[in-house]
Amino acid sequence: MRIDLHTHSTASDGTGAPGDVVAAAAAAGLDVVALTDHDTTAGWQDAAEEASRRGIALVRGTEVSAQSEGSSIHVLSYLHDPRAPALLEETTRARASRETRARRMVELIAADLPITWEDVLAQTAPGTTIGRPHIADALVASGYFPDRSAAFADVLASGGRYHVHHYAPSAAVAVEAIRASGGVAVFAHPGAEVKGPIVPDRVVREMAEAGLAGLEVHHRDHSLHQRERLLALADELGLLVTGSSDYHGAGKPNVLGENTTSPEALARIEELGTLPVLR
Ligand code: AMP
Ligand code: FE
Ligand code: FE
Ligand code: ZN
Repeated sequence: MRIDLHTHSTASDGTGAPGDVVAAAAAAGLDVVALTDHDTTAGWQDAAEEASRRGIALVRGTEVSAQSEGSSIHVLSYLHDPRAPALLEETTRARASRETRARRMVELIAADLPITWEDVLAQTAPGTTIGRPHIADALVASGYFPDRSAAFADVLASGGRYHVHHYAPSAAVAVEAIRASGGVAVFAHPGAEVKGPIVPDRVVREMAEAGLAGLEVHHRDHSLHQRERLLALADELGLLVTGSSDYHGAGKPNVLGENTTSPEALARIEELGTLPVLR
């Protein structure tokens, strides 16, 4: 069984449509794939239809924006009720704030590298959760950078002078909203030092008290040292362990199935979640 529980489509900052992500997962020989776009469930329907056509199992999920002491963190929610108000209110608010923030970042960047909001919209599917990767795509289309990674290394950097924050709930509030909506909360790439400062164990403990179910330990942004630290923390706190690709299509080098989750962890997620895994 090959299980990949973290992927993105054009419903957020992936480059393939939801159905294309599922088709690519089937072609890569995966048995189970989760679609986990940032702050949205908009891709679920198309993903489900393609999964049924391809005979691959689908876990419906969302990567929820959150923050800890001002630093951005991500919490995966699996198998939640997409209409439940607790999580829907948080993701709706984050999505609106993401748009305001992206417009502001484009204004700041445009003073040095002329691009327009229309250039960014030209890189997005209707209704997408907008993020810095879409600004990156506009900068690439305008010839300023060769690819997203180069844009992130420069004007889109988290600590940089063009960076603007968007609304996101605290880590514990995000976990509570996921639980209240029937979802299973897994802390995404909690040891990704490449993305900025990582949260201390204390914050993971607070999230565990709020109902966190697991840690995404096996992720390309984790050093061996971080994996060992996180495995010990998961063991201590009784959290399940996942591994995933965080596939973004052509937007990142991440390859489907490059990290995977055990069938036992998936079975536990299905037990704890509200929706079934679609098989
Ligand atoms: P935002 O959500 O707007 O703050 O942008 C963060 C998103 O950008 C993350 O979800 C990543 O998928 C993406 N990202 C971060 N760093 C890079 C990079 N170096 N290359 C491509 N995408 C990136
Ligand atoms: Fe992303
Ligand atoms: Fe993430
Ligand atoms: Zn992700």
